[in-house]
Amino acid sequence: MSQHAIETPPAVTLPVSGTDAVFPVRRVYCIGRNYAAHAIEMGHDPDRDPPFFFQKNPDDLDPSGEFPYPDKSADVHHEIEMAVMLKSGGTNIPVERALEHVFGYALSLDMTRRDLQGEQKKLGRPWEIGKAFERSAPVGPIHPVDAVGHLDRGAVELEVNGEVRQEGDLDQMIWKVPEMIAYLSEYFALAAGDVILSGTPSGVGPVVRGDVMKVSVAGLGSMNVRVV
Ligand code: MN
Repeated sequence: MSQHAIETPPAVTLPVSGTDAVFPVRRVYCIGRNYAAHAIEMGHDPDRDPPFFFQKNPDDLDPSGEFPYPDKSADVHHEIEMAVMLKSGGTNIPVERALEHVFGYALSLDMTRRDLQGEQKKLGRPWEIGKAFERSAPVGPIHPVDAVGHLDRGAVELEVNGEVRQEGDLDQMIWKVPEMIAYLSEYFALAAGDVILSGTPSGVGPVVRGDVMKVSVAGLGSMNVRVV
């Protein structure tokens, strides 16, 4: 075994509900505009155009329950999303076999610097600065499929300081979980440790320091994330 030439970066792992085992993260894919009402609120046509994806970094996933408001931004939005964790992967996965690759599901947030994302959109530039920033994806414990089954319907809700801001249902996804996995696998080699954030329902909006976001998805319970 060869030695690393520099200090070894820490592995990114996430807690798994009901066990001491942790889930090692490889890549993070996020789908854009996957609920029609959210596509409309962002000024887009909700037709079933091919899906599009962007990525966050593995170490943007943060199970701490705190979200540090980033510098250089004055308009940071919450986007509640269900995260899908893969235990295996491959290329050109057929839709009807896609769910065999899912290890489990978790609550998550795709926190977004909407001001910076908007500037990049206008300039036709990539979104990383608005999406893939430090600790931009608060995430809850992973619930294995063995415990909760596959989730394709049920309420998705986000409250800020006790007030409901986002409300939807998993069955409103334009591209369902198996379709997302199949589509991604046509362009990327998916593998164990990959995470897919499955899009957000309508009602996205800004947070400020001190806010408490309560994230819930039917079947996954709820988690609180404090903006600090
Ligand atoms: Mn999103």
